[in-house]
Amino acid sequence: MEKQINKRTQRIVDRLETLGSISDDDKCVSRFFGTKAHIESRKVLIEWMKDAGMTVSCDNMGNIRGILASTNPEAKHFVVASHYDSVFDAGKYDGPLGILLGIEMAKKVSDSNQSLPFHLDVVAFADEEGGRFNTAYLGSCVLAGNFDHSWLSRKDDQGSTLEEVINNAGGNIDNISQDMIPKDDWLGYFEIHIEQGPVLEKEDLPVCLVSGIAGQTRVDVKWTGMAGHAGTCPMDIRQDALCAAAEFTLAMEALGKKHKENLVATVGKLNVGPNTSNVVSGFVYNTLDIRSMDDAFLSQRVEEAESIAKSIGEKRAVQCDWQVMQSNASVNCDSRLRAVLGRGINNSGVERLLEIPSGAGHDGVMISRVAPISMLFVRCKGGISHNPLEYSSPQDIMASLEVCDQFLTELKTASEFNF
Ligand SMILES: [Zn+2]
Repeated sequence: MEKQINKRTQRIVDRLETLGSISDDDKCVSRFFGTKAHIESRKVLIEWMKDAGMTVSCDNMGNIRGILASTNPEAKHFVVASHYDSVFDAGKYDGPLGILLGIEMAKKVSDSNQSLPFHLDVVAFADEEGGRFNTAYLGSCVLAGNFDHSWLSRKDDQGSTLEEVINNAGGNIDNISQDMIPKDDWLGYFEIHIEQGPVLEKEDLPVCLVSGIAGQTRVDVKWTGMAGHAGTCPMDIRQDALCAAAEFTLAMEALGKKHKENLVATVGKLNVGPNTSNVVSGFVYNTLDIRSMDDAFLSQRVEEAESIAKSIGEKRAVQCDWQVMQSNASVNCDSRLRAVLGRGINNSGVERLLEIPSGAGHDGVMISRVAPISMLFVRCKGGISHNPLEYSSPQDIMASLEVCDQFLTELKTASEFNF
């Protein structure tokens, strides 16, 4: 039987709508870093954090940070966070749900005048999706002290640099390095996020633990063949770059399927030259995105993929250039925080404790360099995300909130940590 939605959950649902209505496009949700809507949305986040009793500041990157200070002189920071930027034509839950649950956690503590043995921080990261500058985790890398100043010269599609956008949004790039939480001051990190996959729906559970975040390698593959007339170039002497890229794409699908228990491989982007109906393709650029929780296994599969590409190229007399663009190792969620969060889930009355890895990247990847991390996934309808159809039910949000409260209660007295 469905439980009645409580006031706190209703507030989250209402606020999801409010944030979702702040958009740069009047037909869909779109909040790229540093845009009018993005800056506008900071105001409501600051107001909501203040209402939850927190001391609130906005850093030079635009991260909003609310702190509920502890009276414990030894206190470290326990950070609950997610992001408030979005992709284009986004849903309302990816990012904001985690922030709003964090605000409710803080409000409950503040309203009851408790002092926690740690500072409770709620952070709304300014940029996780990287939609504008193709830089994932821009917000969290500032908090983790990993901001790379070489990114400042990156340009968006309109030619504005990251430096200009930060300055126009009220930040000062010279002070960005001061916005970090020093490594020794972290107690831990907790992010609540929609699952963006179908497992919870299949398992009929509202929430689950996240065991870790998959490692990911991104490769650029360039195929150079010989362009030719589609009517006169004989079939058996063609050097068709598109056919090579197509064969490679299907080979990557087969590779992923062969190892489907611990690998996903995707060719998601293809630029065809000259991209003309009556010309044999002479040049193709494609991407490969390949992920696994097992780093050694992943690097072996990346090597395998490269040798597949090279042999396709040789067979077809098409030159293949292989360039690894980005490689992130997998990240494990902290075993102590996992144990405490597991007890929180059990205490909340969720029927079963399930633990799954995250195939999608999250800010925890960046924060794991300086602090122990933990994550909770919330069921989303059909596993759909980055889409206006994205949806988590009020029932599931209420179940998540209960888990969050129980997690905090367990953490205060956890034997895993000495307060
Ligand atoms: Zn997200």
